[in-house]
Amino acid sequence: MTAPLIDPFARAITYLRVSVTDRCDFRCVYCMSENMTFLPKKELLTLEELDRLCSTFVGLGVEKLRITGGEPLVRRDIMTFFRSMSRHLDSGALKELTLTTNGSQLERFAKDLYAAGVRRINVSLDTLDEDKFARVTRWGRLPQVLRGLDAAQAAGLRVKLNAVALKGFNEDELFTLAEFCAARDMDLTWIEVMPMGDLGNENRIGQYWSLKDLRAQLAERYTLIDLAERSGGPARYVQLQETGQKIGFITPLTHNFCESCNRVRVTCTGEIYMCLGQEDVADLRAPLRDHPQDDAPLEDAIRAAILLKPKGHDFDYSRQRADGQVSRHMSHTGG
Ligand code: SAM
Ligand code: SF4
Repeated sequence: MTAPLIDPFARAITYLRVSVTDRCDFRCVYCMSENMTFLPKKELLTLEELDRLCSTFVGLGVEKLRITGGEPLVRRDIMTFFRSMSRHLDSGALKELTLTTNGSQLERFAKDLYAAGVRRINVSLDTLDEDKFARVTRWGRLPQVLRGLDAAQAAGLRVKLNAVALKGFNEDELFTLAEFCAARDMDLTWIEVMPMGDLGNENRIGQYWSLKDLRAQLAERYTLIDLAERSGGPARYVQLQETGQKIGFITPLTHNFCESCNRVRVTCTGEIYMCLGQEDVADLRAPLRDHPQDDAPLEDAIRAAILLKPKGHDFDYSRQRADGQVSRHMSHTGG
């Protein structure tokens, strides 16, 4: 038996998030600038390399694999990769194969995803207003995403919506989004905007809407029951007593959740980030490319990286400036 991945703070690493592309068909204001320069193709891991990389992690005890981006469903032939990963579901080594998507391509791919063993997906959607949707995503169109949600649910996928809380933007949709999700039997999670990347003149502190405030507003209309469940991640959940609906809060800036962190992230170029909020990074592409027939160097590189996983992150808005800011874009690590 191979030894599992345990970091220096005794946390078992069982959850891998992999970004399969830096490209996207949207340009969300908090995530990308309008004129992005994307990586040349040779920098990206090929689908075969992604397969080897993920399979090696599964061999080291990773049980949950989340595919992200950029927009994962715009990567050419990505369904080949999903289909190939389903062998680890069949063997029982992988418990969950999932993805985070902007929903634009779901109409096309929902059935194939289900056939590959995907059962739950996260769809990012910040507003149900067509104009606001076009403003926040710049290139996205709401009806396409709504059709994607229909297709996903029709295919049997369980959907969770992720909404980024943006001050003065979707504050007024707190109840509309909750009711939309309740009516469609979807979970909803609000995410605090994080100080990522250099997005030009977007004022990110101005956009920051504290989830404490959001929760207080929700409590004015509903009775909130705190749920104990944690997924090893930053989300905390409440249930609305009146409707039974579950709502999650991801508050990387105001809560410390690092003690139960079970995850690492790999970028589309094969860099492993041990923490979303830190710059600690190691290269897995060289051991992967330099040894096409031998996974041992890759395994060693993964183990060495896990030993460098930091205790936690340093995001802090408390002094009205984004302390702990990291310079890369969210699309680089996939959120
Ligand atoms: N394109 C896919 C999508 O939008 O779901 C997957 C990648 S996207 C980078 C993953 C998640 O990160 C999305 O839910 C998005 O809203 C979130 N995100 C991007 N930039 C963010 C930021 N600055 N703060 C908080 N969340 C952010
Ligand atoms: Fe694309 Fe997702 Fe970033 Fe929006 S949040 S620009 S959809 S990667």
